[in-house]
Amino acid sequence: MRYYILFGPPGAGKGTHAAALREKYNLCHLSTGELLRAEIAAGTELGIEAKKLIDKGCLVPDSVVEGMIESKFNSVTDVDGFLLDGFPRTLGQAEDLDNILAKRGESVTAVLSLMISDDLVKRRILHRAAIEGRADDASEETINNRIRTYHNQTEPLIDYYKNQAKYHEVDAGADTTEENRSRVINLFESVKK
Ligand code: ADP
Repeated sequence: MRYYILFGPPGAGKGTHAAALREKYNLCHLSTGELLRAEIAAGTELGIEAKKLIDKGCLVPDSVVEGMIESKFNSVTDVDGFLLDGFPRTLGQAEDLDNILAKRGESVTAVLSLMISDDLVKRRILHRAAIEGRADDASEETINNRIRTYHNQTEPLIDYYKNQAKYHEVDAGADTTEENRSRVINLFESVKK
């Protein structure tokens, strides 16, 4: 089984491009953000607790997202690989992911990093707020907090995966979605194994 990580700041286009990669390469797309939003929509205890943190632009506890990911690894089998979107997001999650995979005799295949500037993060998220209506996209304060959280807690993963020689970056800040998609697919082709 292959395990690909789609990495990048909020609004980099991880979800958008994951949809194209999933179809083309028979992958299971696992977005921890989407899994959490499903819990919120279902009104579960976990969802209620997660919403409080998500609406402030904070991360939910590592154990919560790790539990979700591990249960998907155990239940989804009819694919060629997993495409992780929005996970891992902290060094602790990255280390735990390595341990979860090691127990299965597996490891992360490659990290595809979609890079855009902080300015573009803000513009993309505000634009998305008008289309998708996500509460955590609508407030400038929450967006700024997500950008801070990204720099403080998620960016250190770049060095973590560079040290494992698994980190591959693409500029995902082109003007059109089509151009960005073709850049991401080219990158995937070059790292897929
Ligand atoms: P985006 O990439 O636009 O930030 P996501 O859908 O990936 O959106 O995540 C939305 C929110 O869900 C995050 O801001 C965070 O609060 C929570 N979340 C998602 N993935 C994780 C994770 N791996 N660890 C902790 N919190 C997460």
